[in-house]
Amino acid sequence: MPSTDKFTGWVGLDAESVKGNLVKTTFSPKEFTDDDIDIKISHCGMCASDLHTLRSGWGVTNYPVVVGHEIIGTVTRKGKNVKYEIGDRVGVGAQCYSCLKPDCYDCTHDNEPTCPDRVFTYDACYPSGDVAYGGYAEEGRYPASFAFKIPEELPSEIAAPMMCGGITVYSPLRRNGCGPGKVVGIVGIGGLGHFGLLFAKALGAEEVYAISRSKAKEADVLAMGANGIIATNEAGWAAKNSRKFDLIVSTANSPDMPLNDYTKILKPGGRFVQVGLPEEPIPQFYFGPLVQSNISIGGSLLGARCEIEEMLALAASQGIKSWVTVYPMSEVNTVLGLMEDNKARYRFVLEN
Ligand code: NDP
Ligand code: ZN
Repeated sequence: MPSTDKFTGWVGLDAESVKGNLVKTTFSPKEFTDDDIDIKISHCGMCASDLHTLRSGWGVTNYPVVVGHEIIGTVTRKGKNVKYEIGDRVGVGAQCYSCLKPDCYDCTHDNEPTCPDRVFTYDACYPSGDVAYGGYAEEGRYPASFAFKIPEELPSEIAAPMMCGGITVYSPLRRNGCGPGKVVGIVGIGGLGHFGLLFAKALGAEEVYAISRSKAKEADVLAMGANGIIATNEAGWAAKNSRKFDLIVSTANSPDMPLNDYTKILKPGGRFVQVGLPEEPIPQFYFGPLVQSNISIGGSLLGARCEIEEMLALAASQGIKSWVTVYPMSEVNTVLGLMEDNKARYRFVLEN
């Protein structure tokens, strides 16, 4: 049973909403339980997933939907089991619930994103049947177990995009050995990709490269600490970089990515991890280079709760700064258009 409370947000009513047709109106949040918090949302980052969902790109979305899963806000109400205090500043990412039961293999092994009962922050339902609503809104209601205290050193607009964009690359970097002695490549320098460069550096990778469709972002990636940029529109780029990388994390979100060539620039034994989620299957893939060089290819979804805390602490201690442009939440429909046109450098953040 949804609550009778009314929150105000920017609601997508159909697939046309992605064209900047969100409607400011009220919605009924989940029923409030002893484990929940209400937050007054100050900031929400704009992730490419918001657009995939608004346009029903990954399958038919359950409208009405409130997207946004890079949420920062202050606690205004708390259930009696909640450790946070009223006024605490917390962040909520792309997952807002998992079972956390002692007999759940995933939840007891720092794999909450793959818990069979996981709930995403929007276009999803809680086990009770209540709908989960995201952060393009003035208020939000979430289980406190998936809200994270934001370190004082991190301004809200800097922390917001880390809640999804940051953790989605931090987790596979951490789990696949990014660190001293390792050469790491990041495919696609958008919101997730720019965090890939920043966090690979912060984790102590020997060398970090941007793998981008052109050299247009070269000055930016060097300023982010990358050792260089590889442009995939230049003839011979794969041959020139053969056997260079221990690890590649790919944020590319279009099916026409040159996947076969990406695997050719890995060292023998190297790993390729895809986090970008194109709406269509990739056209063709050859196993040859994988088999002949013992290469692994895989995927990764979000990150564990302990990794989110670790990432936030690392960002605070190293002074990591997300590259953001802040817009008033009231301009969300304009900002959707800018995001669709690939104008983000590198994350748009909406502010109430
Ligand atoms: P952005 O739009 O900010 O960045 C995507 C980047 O991909 C672009 O900047 C571009 O980089 C690159 N790209 C675009 N088209 C191609 C292409 N044809 N070939 C190669 N590269 C391409 O998106 P986000 O960073 O916000 O999200 C990226 C993807 O990750 C989305 O699909 C999103 O849904 C998904 N995602 C996945 C999560 C997970 O848990 N696995 C969580 C969050 C998001 P350049 O210009 O440098 O080539
Ligand atoms: Zn996201």
